[in-house]
Amino acid sequence: MDVNTNLSYAKSLDRSDPLASFRKYFHIPDPNLIYMDGNSLGRPPKASGKRVQVLTEEWGKDLIRGFNKDWWQAPVRVGEKIAQLVGAGPGQIVVTDSVSVNLFKLASAALSYRSQRRKILTDSLNFPSDLYILQGLKHLLGDKHLIIRIGSKDNEITPDIDELLGLIDEDTALVTLSHVTFKSGYLYDMAAITETAHRHGALVLWDLSHSVGAVPIELDACDVDFAVGCTYKYLNGGPGAPAFLYVRKDLQNQVSSPIWGWWGQNDPFTFSIDYEPAPGIVRFLAGTQPILSMLAMEAALDPLILAGMNSLRRKSILMSEYLIFLADELLVPFGFSIGSPRDPNIRGSHVSFRHKEGYRINQALIEAMSVIPDFREPDNIRFGLSPLYNSFTEIWEAVNRVRKVMDKEIFERYSNQRSIVT
Ligand SMILES: *Cc1c(COP(=O)(O)O)cnc(C)c1O
Repeated sequence: MDVNTNLSYAKSLDRSDPLASFRKYFHIPDPNLIYMDGNSLGRPPKASGKRVQVLTEEWGKDLIRGFNKDWWQAPVRVGEKIAQLVGAGPGQIVVTDSVSVNLFKLASAALSYRSQRRKILTDSLNFPSDLYILQGLKHLLGDKHLIIRIGSKDNEITPDIDELLGLIDEDTALVTLSHVTFKSGYLYDMAAITETAHRHGALVLWDLSHSVGAVPIELDACDVDFAVGCTYKYLNGGPGAPAFLYVRKDLQNQVSSPIWGWWGQNDPFTFSIDYEPAPGIVRFLAGTQPILSMLAMEAALDPLILAGMNSLRRKSILMSEYLIFLADELLVPFGFSIGSPRDPNIRGSHVSFRHKEGYRINQALIEAMSVIPDFREPDNIRFGLSPLYNSFTEIWEAVNRVRKVMDKEIFERYSNQRSIVT
């Protein structure tokens, strides 16, 4: 059957979806609510709730002894699980802190390691927190660095890659980018950019927050130096679940964290009063970990590992292609434009639609239509597609609910006043 706008076509895609059965691993109290914001906060896996229940028992029973069972090792153990999703060999990832804090630690390590170089390259499409962290670090280091943000020639959809490659030179200390950009969903060519940076002796730090769990990643094969990533988006780790960081094996003992804490100390229980960094990746830990969140997140990783990144990516592309097809047919006539790359090879797992009434349309969808996308200034409505639990029928239904909002002008009832979290 050729692709068309009928519901029966969506249903046929669901029938031939090898990942359809994974939806049952999630707690979905209202099946009529179409959730397309898994790129901001994933749905809760049933296993995470169970793990937290068991953990409460363990906490009560084991008390402080829990740390000797499996709490102390959790940052490394859970890191090894995430390693399976990002093409990393053992001993290179720990789970800890937030993405922002980890970015600070690794950018600081990189700049100290390339202390003779002044340039930090990034892009204006980056997640603002990443840019703030770089600005704060530059300030802390005495304002001797130059932060250069490359721009975009097509209204913030794709970055200007030629500009980026042209700027990497012998004075570049660090190239740091989000692998998938948070607004348009543009997917960078990690291998090519890392290779160019290395050719000029620059280090790379990739933020995987919008790609991990949605796009296959090969950190080792791409020879990446540093990476950070988020676990509450496509990894479904839960609100505030700790982030992860990666440091290439042969760099680990040559760089250091700017935050010298006891969890990164060589032998913390000697309580030595002088800091000596632990060998390996553990030196990037600082203080006590959020164990409840971390173990809930650990349980969330199993369905992703079971499904495998290649089949997740295959479904993700089928979904975003189908969504864009429907939008071209049914939404463009109402004044929407596609705010993401049209080539699936350079697109992550969310699609942005732009509309001058974007904010109110998003509000109407959430409040009147039981569809949850999200809104990003100035005019982007993002539809996140999570291959583990979103279905093709949901995509069809979501597009038709958007159409209803436009057709009946339901968005006119909502205010343009922004709420705290959009
Ligand atoms: C979600 C996200 C973050 C989140 O940072 P936190 O410090 O964990 O809140 C950072 N960077 C990018 C690119 C993101 O998408």
